[in-house]
Formats: sequence, C-alpha cells, structure tokens
Amino acid sequence: MGRGAWLASKRSIVLPINPVFERYSRQILFSGMGEEGQRKLLASSAVIVGCGAIGASTAQLLARAGVGRLRVIDRDFVEYSNLQRQALFDENDARDSLPKAAAAKRKLRQLNSEIDIDGVVADVTPQNVAELLDGFDLILDGTDNFDTRFLINDFAVEAARPWIYAAAVGSYGLTFAIRPGVTACLACVLEAPEAGSLLEETCDTVGVIGPIVNLVASLEAAEALKILSGHAEALHGRLLSCDVWSGKMQSIAILRDAQCRACVSHEFSYLDGKSQPHITLCGRDSVQIHERRRSLDLAGLAEKLSVAGIAVKKNDFLLKFAVASYELTVFTDGRAILKGSTDPAVARSLYARYIGT
Ligand SMILES: [Zn+2]
Repeated sequence: MGRGAWLASKRSIVLPINPVFERYSRQILFSGMGEEGQRKLLASSAVIVGCGAIGASTAQLLARAGVGRLRVIDRDFVEYSNLQRQALFDENDARDSLPKAAAAKRKLRQLNSEIDIDGVVADVTPQNVAELLDGFDLILDGTDNFDTRFLINDFAVEAARPWIYAAAVGSYGLTFAIRPGVTACLACVLEAPEAGSLLEETCDTVGVIGPIVNLVASLEAAEALKILSGHAEALHGRLLSCDVWSGKMQSIAILRDAQCRACVSHEFSYLDGKSQPHITLCGRDSVQIHERRRSLDLAGLAEKLSVAGIAVKKNDFLLKFAVASYELTVFTDGRAILKGSTDPAVARSLYARYIGT
C-alpha cells in the first residue's frame, strides 16, 4: 500500500465521515478532546469581555477550535499602538478607527464562517452586564481593568457561571479559571490586602510585550476548551503566573476565602453599581465618560462640529475630533473617551461643551 492510500485508509478509520469535522480533525485526534468533545464544543457558547491583546488571541483560538457561539464585547477602537500585540487587527482597522468588536467580528468570520459570531460595541456596566453576558456557558476575561473584572466576578458568582480571569503587564501575566462554589473567586484572590500593587499596574503605565499576552491567552483558551468540551475533570484548578522575560513560571493553589464578600457572603457590590464611577481612568492620559441611556445622533453631531470649524472623523460606530490638545471619541451609546487628560473636570467640561448634556 502506498503512503497516500495508507493515509486515506487511516483517515477513514480514525476520523468521522462527516465533512464538517474535517476542519477539526487534528483536534478530534487529540485524546483529551475526541469526537464527543468536539460535538460539545460546537454546541457551546462563550462571551469574551474586552477584545484587546488577550481577548483577541483568545477569541481567535476559540473560533478556530469551533466554539459554536462566540460573542466579543469591547468599548474601544483600534489604534496603531495596538498592532504590536493585538493579533486580530491590522493597519486598515487602525486607519479607519474601527471599533475592536466590529473589526474582531469581521476577522473571526474569515477564520471560521461555520460558527455564530457576534461583536458588541459596548462598555460592560452594572446596568447591562446581565443582558450582555447571560445565556453563555463561559465568560472569558479580555479586559484591561479591575472594575470590569470584579463586575464579571459578581455576575458569574451570582449566576453560578464559570469564568476565566486573565491579565498581563510588562512581560508578566496570570490566569485562573473560576468555578463559583468549586474554586476560589476573584474576590477571594484579589481583595486580600496584599493584592494592592497588582491592581494598580496597567499596560499603559508599564508597557506590555506580545509574547506574554499570547501565552496567557493560550493558557486561558486551554481551560476554556476543557470546560466547553465537557472535560472539566482536566481543569488544573490553579492560578498560573509566568514571566516570559525572566522565565519564572508558577502554579499556585488558591484556597477559597471563608470570609469572601462575593462567593461566601453574596455581597455583590460591583453588580449593585455601588463601585461604578461616572468617569474612569482608561489607559495612559485618558478617561472614559460614562453617559448612559442615551442614543447619540452621530451624523447630527458631526454636522454641528463641522459648522463650528472642527474637523471630524466618523464611521458607523463612532466619531472622533480634536480640540486644543485633546482628542474626543464619541460612541453612539453616549460614551466618550477623552485623550490628553486624566482630569475628570476637564472631561466633564469638554463633554458638556461639544456633545451636550
Ligand atoms: Zn470568593
């Protein structure tokens, strides 16, 4: 028997005849997954909150693996400074200032047109968290801030839904799969007093390199595949931390906190909205203004600004303009991101003056 014929006969024995499965044949061959695991994966759903570096890489891995229904949520738009590490975006997306959720959806569709992919341009808040995250088998962390992570944690613990925490700064990253009632939750891990310094560093203050975000995304996606393919017994249940520069890797057992606000006392302070300010820091030298429950007419606003002699850049999702040394990006849901200042008073004043109250 020639090698081609041998391979063909081998394929017909090992792999299912269903041509839909040809795409996933190498994954099905992996004993941890198998055909049954693949079927479960195709019937499963996951929502990724935040589609920056970790979110984009995780989304890509899950789309390629055949998670049947994926939702990607992001509040921001693509910039040139993202391209160094955010694997789903290219120069065209940055030039067009496309929202990351829209650019990601388009790219993910090209990677796998056989699954259901949804891109939502929004900031996840106590008001919309249930609407955006409910009904998914798994929630994945692609965020860049702890306010949103604690909000996800509150939602997930209350809804008894698994979610996976993931973060990276500099050359260091960590990830931990959280199963409410089984493992520790994020509040168990991070609301301890010694966790303080971890909460302050963001990519915009210390920078970040591509290899660590892809490594953390891979670790996160692997846990996701176990959960979604029905192989929860394979979850290692540990917090993994790694530094690709020093080569230091750690696998840490995390115990539940018997006094935990969230998973023991069921005090959901983030879900209740008590911890959500109206203006939040959003990266280096920028703030986000959370004006909600309003729908902005971007075309009307563009016209108003043009009449005032202000140059406006606009697409279907957002409008961007510069005044003095500031740049304002306004979204259809009324949110705005101000670059050039971290002063809430400046943000409020510019918003009121150019967008209205
Ligand atoms: Zn807890």
